[in-house]
Amino acid sequence: MEIRQEKASENELQSKPDESALGFGKYLSDHMFVMKYDEGLGWHDAVVEKYQDFSLDPAAMALHYGQAIFEGLKAYRGKNDQIYLFRPQANFERMNVSAARMCMPEFPVDTVCEGLKKLLELEKGWVPRAKGATLYIRPTMIATEAGLGVRPAKQYLFFIILSPVGAYYPEGFDPVKIFVTDKYVRAVPGGVGHVKTAGNYAASIMAAVEAQEQGYTQVLWLDAVERKYIEEVGTMNIFFVIGDEVITPPLSGSILPGITRDSVIQLARDWGITVQEKRLTIDDVLAAGENGTLKEIFGTGTAAVISPVGELNYKGTICPVNNGKTGELAQRLFDELQDIQYGEKPDPHNWVVQL
Ligand SMILES: *Cc1c(COP(=O)(O)O)cnc(C)c1O
Repeated sequence: MEIRQEKASENELQSKPDESALGFGKYLSDHMFVMKYDEGLGWHDAVVEKYQDFSLDPAAMALHYGQAIFEGLKAYRGKNDQIYLFRPQANFERMNVSAARMCMPEFPVDTVCEGLKKLLELEKGWVPRAKGATLYIRPTMIATEAGLGVRPAKQYLFFIILSPVGAYYPEGFDPVKIFVTDKYVRAVPGGVGHVKTAGNYAASIMAAVEAQEQGYTQVLWLDAVERKYIEEVGTMNIFFVIGDEVITPPLSGSILPGITRDSVIQLARDWGITVQEKRLTIDDVLAAGENGTLKEIFGTGTAAVISPVGELNYKGTICPVNNGKTGELAQRLFDELQDIQYGEKPDPHNWVVQL
């Protein structure tokens, strides 16, 4: 498919934000990639164009029945102004899994990768220079067909927008305090917890707000059936270092198969560390905390890369982790991943794509 390009005029371009105060998702770049789908016609009209409002029918089905999916990945500026992407193919393949689950049309990964590259070539200047700051990439697909009636829509819009971001957590790479919720659940077996669909995040907001009101950065989710097995933390996968083992919950269908999770498992195994994908209860974790074998807990995700956990609160019981300090493995993984993402270290698994 041909991808058209319609550049914004000089006077429509914004001035770039101050790199020391980017925050997360506050600023959006000047252009976007857009592609349309109509049943019978397939995907068409791929274009890199000026960032602008969409015109949507109030009955657009995404607004009513939630056929909306997204992805999140980043572009990094390395040495000599070289721009790198980290495993972009994996994000688009995962997005097609989300599309299939939500009865939305799959798209050609090659076209979308090419569209992203075209967009980034135009928006290179938006990739921050400050270390740790990146250009966050948000591919999205929504049902645009107007209609009231629950069924798969026949029209969709796929788009990619870009946002320069600073460090994900305001505290920086410091351990966060996590509230273990036994009141809310994120996903149920047979549901949509394994895909990045908008409704999952809407459903999670109340738990996050209540945790924040109590001074916690995020929520740790337990399984929906027995409310005892660990699932994820906020919008990150979670890892535990207990004794000599690194443990992370298996991809059971109710957790998101994180690309950072997969990369962390691979790196740790490369280093000769045993990683087990197995179910773990909150009681196991608290017991390990009590008997001194719990060494580290950390979350993994594109936005934060690695987020060390310094404290858990479960039903009022406080479980301190590594004296509230960043653990050795979390630090080593963070450094290694960053170095690979910025093109500063060898990339034995061919994860990095140069622009
Ligand atoms: C996106 C996401 C993750 C992390 O996935 P990455 O590919 O590592 O960014 C984990 N959990 C949830 C719920 C997510 O939405």
